[in-house]
Amino acid sequence: MSNDQYPHLLSPLTLAGLTLRNRVVMGSMHTGLEDAPWDVPKLAAYVGERAKGGVGLIVTGGYAPTRRGWLKPFASELRTRLQAERHKQVTGAVHEHGGAIALQVLHAGRYGYTPISVSASNRKSPITPFKPTALSSKGVDRTASAFARTAALAQRAGYDAVEIMGSEGYLINQFLAERTNDRTDAWGGTAEKRMRFPVEVVRRTRELVGPDLPIMYRISLLDLVEGGQTWDEVAELAHRVVEAGATVLNTGIGWHEARVPTIITQVPRGAWLSATARLKAEVSVPVCASNRINTPDLAEQVLADGTADLVSMARPLLADPFFVAKAAEGRADEINTCIACNQACLDHVFQNKLASCLVNPRACRETTLVLSPTRRARRVAVVGAGPAGLSAAVSAAERGHAVTLFEASDELGGQFRLAMAVPGKEEFAETLRYFTRRLGVLGVDVRLSTYATAADLADFDDVVVATGVEPRELDLPGADHERVVSYADVLAGRVVPGRRVAVIGAGGIGVDVSHWLTHDERDDFMEVWGVGDPSVHPGGLTEAKPRTAAREVTLLQRKTSMIGKHLGKTSGWAHRAVLKQAGVTQVSGATYTAVQGHPDGVELLYSVDGEPRSLVVDHVVVCAGQESVRSVYDALEHPSAHLIGGADVAAELDAKRAIEQGTVVAAGL
Ligand code: NAP
Ligand code: SF4
Repeated sequence: MSNDQYPHLLSPLTLAGLTLRNRVVMGSMHTGLEDAPWDVPKLAAYVGERAKGGVGLIVTGGYAPTRRGWLKPFASELRTRLQAERHKQVTGAVHEHGGAIALQVLHAGRYGYTPISVSASNRKSPITPFKPTALSSKGVDRTASAFARTAALAQRAGYDAVEIMGSEGYLINQFLAERTNDRTDAWGGTAEKRMRFPVEVVRRTRELVGPDLPIMYRISLLDLVEGGQTWDEVAELAHRVVEAGATVLNTGIGWHEARVPTIITQVPRGAWLSATARLKAEVSVPVCASNRINTPDLAEQVLADGTADLVSMARPLLADPFFVAKAAEGRADEINTCIACNQACLDHVFQNKLASCLVNPRACRETTLVLSPTRRARRVAVVGAGPAGLSAAVSAAERGHAVTLFEASDELGGQFRLAMAVPGKEEFAETLRYFTRRLGVLGVDVRLSTYATAADLADFDDVVVATGVEPRELDLPGADHERVVSYADVLAGRVVPGRRVAVIGAGGIGVDVSHWLTHDERDDFMEVWGVGDPSVHPGGLTEAKPRTAAREVTLLQRKTSMIGKHLGKTSGWAHRAVLKQAGVTQVSGATYTAVQGHPDGVELLYSVDGEPRSLVVDHVVVCAGQESVRSVYDALEHPSAHLIGGADVAAELDAKRAIEQGTVVAAGL
């Protein structure tokens, strides 16, 4: 593969006895397909598709070397020859397409969601309910050997490399950091003794697998927890694992329990590259950059600048298995870019559901959600160009159907356009760019500013109605006051709210709007989250600087529960932290009474626990959910009409469900 635009990204690299065809590593991500033997064919299809799409090296989700290292009961492990035998289907699927694959060996330590978890000490993690047992000295010794045995089994199964998971707060980190290691034997106490476990793991692995199998060690550059490693310790560890036999250093940022977000969309692209560059300057082996790198241009720049030798992307390859091939073919504008939302990947994994991808619902469902070429092209009308309609139109056209897309407004995107306006959600623009480009490439007949009537749709073989939603209006005396506006008016820029704002409704959009209202562009991500130089602050954690809130915002809901409780598992906590940092006043259990004019703006009358309260503000912004827009569908008398997205069910509508429904309906046409 070569291409003038991405010469570094597409150049080969040799590691030990293995030549990678390019510098793209698909980073490890647990999908849920790793856990059960009956999912092996699906896992093989999943990695096979990414190998076909040109990825240089794929790293599997983590496999435990011992039962006590499980992520959850009966989670993925590689401990026997029989298990290794099954993996041959996975490695074979990658080799068939000229790719290479590494198995990641991961011991969860105290992050194991099991009562049999073990760790360096018996300190419970803040994110799991089980207190681990401290390993005995012999137990530590046996666990180090178990890592090596799993690596040797991986070699037997045809893996081209192994990755030792030494970051994100798992067992190896638990040995390395003072925070979690209070041992007094040979595996704890001084920094040198805390380092002994990972060094032994790598040394024994090298001894067992011989000189030709590349060993990638994933090192935690910034722990982002109190009592984390200092930079000197990280650098020393890097030297020692290389001496012990590591061929390449992959990088990780932040433990899972860190109070700083590391990969969600609020984190600026490439945020952690200075730490990667610092490691690169320390060692002579290749270094792999990771976290919040999601475009080939940024990946190319990382390599061209000399910051790293390889670039790891996990979620971007979930989002588009053909990321590399498209970049190589000069079609980077057709890449379906990961928007770092976590909604269908990590949020699913943490809810014990199979991972997929918000922008690519086929991820991990390669064998069950198939967009097969059609034998008879049908004339398909899609009405509405929001996420659901765009997904249906593109998926149907990919199958070879002749698609016409009607959109009443003069632009594509629907609710995407509003989401894009939220600070930290700018990546949604990439999804719109992707769909727009694919519509063009696939020759979809796009008719903007066209309200499709039942008569216009009568001659099509199939009609997919995705006319979306409209914001719900408040049913309250005075709700028609000119200073009571909807979230859509605010996010679309039709109204600029004053300095004091009441937000009614604290669902995902109420939280997003509160963020939008208080956001100040001058705030620096590292400063507001308290990330500092790890040479000075162990773990890279320092005091967080308060946000400069642009407005005084009160966010209200009728429920008595905590605000933001139902936000995404892996990102909700960060959204809630932003509200706190920005000084947003949060009111739960509100009963709204009325809105009335006031000399200083507008007054919201409400009560909490029967006690009347009032709030004088410049604007009231209503974020009270949505209602379906179905007039087109209701007027249709078509034998093959399909209703999808918010027009189908407005409650809890989100882009994940909309895009998935669009793809599923197109797959069935
Ligand atoms: P939502 O999550 O349904 O929240 C709307 C809130 O408005 C409700 O929770 C309800 O809370 C309140 N409400 C409903 N009817 C009301 C009425 N008649 N008067 C006053 N308050 C009323 O809807 P959304 O915030 O518009 O979000 C839409 C979808 O997008 C959701 O699925 C959401 O998860 C998703 N989304 C997610 C995120 C994220 O995860 N970060 C961000 C944006 C959007 P009370 O009854 O308690 O007042
Ligand atoms: Fe990226 Fe969101 Fe897809 Fe996960 S679900 S891969 S974060 S776009």
